[in-house]
Amino acid sequence: AAEEGPRRRVLLKLSGEAFAGGGGLGVDPDVVHAIAREIATVVRGGTEVAIVIGGGNFFRGAELQVRGMDRARSDYMGMLGTVMNCLALQDFLMKEGIETRVQTAITMGQVAEPYLPLRAVRHLEKGRVVIFGAGMGMPYFSTDTTAVQRALEVHAEVLLMGKNGVDGVYDSDPKTNPDAVKFDTLEYSEVIARDLKVADLTAITLCKDNDLPILVFELLAEGNIARAVRSEKIGTLICG
Ligand code: UDP
Repeated sequence: AAEEGPRRRVLLKLSGEAFAGGGGLGVDPDVVHAIAREIATVVRGGTEVAIVIGGGNFFRGAELQVRGMDRARSDYMGMLGTVMNCLALQDFLMKEGIETRVQTAITMGQVAEPYLPLRAVRHLEKGRVVIFGAGMGMPYFSTDTTAVQRALEVHAEVLLMGKNGVDGVYDSDPKTNPDAVKFDTLEYSEVIARDLKVADLTAITLCKDNDLPILVFELLAEGNIARAVRSEKIGTLICG
């Protein structure tokens, strides 16, 4: 409820597509700057923020596979794409005066720390933002699943899933069906049974097994990240 005050520690999953702005491909610095400003506000408010960013604005392994590439190799390309998003966001967060560390699941010492969960927690305790890049470092997984796993490992209270162009979970695709109905709350089992397109099944199952609540909300609506952190009634809350 809104009265509960801000969350203490959150895992924010950012849509990679959103980073492209209108372009679809690559990074639009204006969009990343706007997202960084919002994150900086909630960090200054005392909330510890860990972040996972998707990579759909560069490559999706499954899409390259359809075009004839080996799935694992194209998944690695997808993971490497997420790291560029991480560096872009790190840059704008640092410009906002927010200390930020990127940790990657594929080691690349010149650009980021390796994924070290205990060190990530230490960063969060010191008020630094930690951005997890390169997914889980494993093909056949998604950044949604990564977001759930990282949220669990750093003991985030909630997974805040910021979507591009949709303000929650609907019973059908609101972009093609004007009669689509939005859910305010959902149970994990309903998401699975109705095959609702929130995240992949691996991610949802991991949330269900470990009771991690997910708030799905529109990422680019101004002020929404702060609203999500304050547990205001936006988007769709998935739990129990
Ligand atoms: N990926 C992967 N393992 C992971 C995370 C990501 O193989 O643990 C690859 C996969 O190919 C995926 C791509 O990285 O298509 C981009 O991530 P995702 O599709 O989750 O980004 P989004 O669609 O959310 O922007």
